[in-house]
Amino acid sequence: MSNETRITKKERDTLIILGQHLNEEFPMRLVDIALEMSLKPPTALNLVKRLEKKGYLEREKGMIVLTATGISRFREVVENHRIIETLMVNNGMDLEKACLMSENIDFLIDHKSIDKIFEKLGKPTKCPHGRRIEQFHK
Ligand SMILES: [Zn+2]
Repeated sequence: MSNETRITKKERDTLIILGQHLNEEFPMRLVDIALEMSLKPPTALNLVKRLEKKGYLEREKGMIVLTATGISRFREVVENHRIIETLMVNNGMDLEKACLMSENIDFLIDHKSIDKIFEKLGKPTKCPHGRRIEQFHK
């Protein structure tokens, strides 16, 4: 049930950035996160420490690496994001607005609700951006 651990919007954004850099040769460092999020390093450090406490990342010699739990939470948030924005676009919202709105919900919504929406949408395989929806958490 660790995937149901509450995170804040800022923690969500940090998780997303780390997830997006997952396949790069060198792990991210605090300065990279601070830069990418336009935050001061102490603010970024605070976010990193909070995610570390929740078990989503580990710090090693200045490198910040997502744990397996962190990776799975990242994937889940991305998945939720795509399903929610599909729902919104299907109901007449424009994509850009839907994408922004979805960022405020994708990390809060529970599995059951997202599964219901996904079923009701007819199990879409792609979001309106054309990115894959995998439903990995099922
Ligand atoms: Zn989006």
